[in-house]
Amino acid sequence: MVSKEHLLQAQEDLRRLVAIPSVSARGEGLAECAETVRDLLADAGFQTGIHPGKVGPFVVGECGSGPITIMIYNHYDVQPEDPVDLWHSPPYKLSERDGRWFGRGVADDKGEFVSRLAGWRVFRERFPGPLPFRLIWLVDGEEEIGSPSLEDFLKTRFKDETVEVCWWEYGEIDSNGRPVILCGFKGVMAVELRCRTAKADLHSSLGAVFDNPLWRLAAATASLRDASGRIAVEGFYDPVRQPTDQESGIVADPPFSLESIMQATGAQRLLDGMGESSFYHAMNFEPCMSVNGVSGGYAGEGAKTVLPAEGAVKIDFRLVPDQEPQAIVGLLRDHLDRHGFQDIELVVHDANVKPVRASADHWFVREATEVLEAHFGKPAIVQPSSPASGTAHPFVEQLGAAIVGLGLTHHGAMLHSPNENIILEQFEAMIACSASLFERLRKKAETDLTP
Ligand SMILES: [Zn+2]
Repeated sequence: MVSKEHLLQAQEDLRRLVAIPSVSARGEGLAECAETVRDLLADAGFQTGIHPGKVGPFVVGECGSGPITIMIYNHYDVQPEDPVDLWHSPPYKLSERDGRWFGRGVADDKGEFVSRLAGWRVFRERFPGPLPFRLIWLVDGEEEIGSPSLEDFLKTRFKDETVEVCWWEYGEIDSNGRPVILCGFKGVMAVELRCRTAKADLHSSLGAVFDNPLWRLAAATASLRDASGRIAVEGFYDPVRQPTDQESGIVADPPFSLESIMQATGAQRLLDGMGESSFYHAMNFEPCMSVNGVSGGYAGEGAKTVLPAEGAVKIDFRLVPDQEPQAIVGLLRDHLDRHGFQDIELVVHDANVKPVRASADHWFVREATEVLEAHFGKPAIVQPSSPASGTAHPFVEQLGAAIVGLGLTHHGAMLHSPNENIILEQFEAMIACSASLFERLRKKAETDLTP
């Protein structure tokens, strides 16, 4: 299917990229990696450019023209490699073991980029003429630090562009080897509640007279959510977009069981009312709130009878379309004030990632489904929304793109962890899928041209 030559070339590309420690958190290796990505795109026939970002540059490749514009989004930066002693092979050396490739970035996101590029080469060998659609390949160097320059960059570089589809940086292969197409991502808002009630920690005997900051934080936190996970902030659910009939139909038949998640994670305590019939709906369509951590007072060994002076609770919210993180911050402040917690300070750590969701009925999703099923030999799963998040909204808001994720991240890929890996067989299938998908796009552009 994919020739030995193409596979070897893809392996060499990945080896080159993995060898560059392009760690955006440390601002390391970014210019060098951007140049390598640029060279790879230029060799594959793209008009290329490198554009500065706040930390690392963007690489842009452009090719073709026609009635539709497709964008591919990837990133070349990676997470730091530590703890390095837990790696079984050097993190910045592509190593093969048991049918897998290991190395920092092989999955997130260099392998995704390379498999698509290899597919592109296969496609161009079959169809070397003018490309009848416009393809923009954007490779970010700051994704792992939250893409701080992305929004501005899209605004300036692609001001008048309308993009039909943004092929998102990754997609998933589930534990049964079934490819998953992601049509959306939740938004995130991360805050901290802080409370201070005294200049310094006091003797706990004074608890007879004075209030306790940790108790106040516990009460404020408890006021935000009930045992079923329902968020009690007034107005919180007002903007929530209801699933379409098609989306509801999809989630009525989950591709995996609640039992299987419980087994895989060891998580045991379900929210009140949560069960086999509701969990997949919640993962796709329900916002949620998690208490991430609590700090303050004495938490060391043994007892210390102290009345703490201050404390803090970190909380995140996963949001769904069309909840706006900034607006939710305002609702949260109102809620605290209304419930007598005016003394609790609300610190916003992140309110920049908005939720997005494309139609599961989009033609690109249908084409991708057929292509994935043909090359993976298993039914594809169309998932209306990932329960996780990504900085996808600028593509939707500024370019009008539908965000669709398909790719080769498997369940044991160890993203951001030691021994990050991809499965060779899936990598090869993804090359073939990419080639077929480019062919479908070509055909689509040509049919759209003829009235
Ligand atoms: Zn990542």
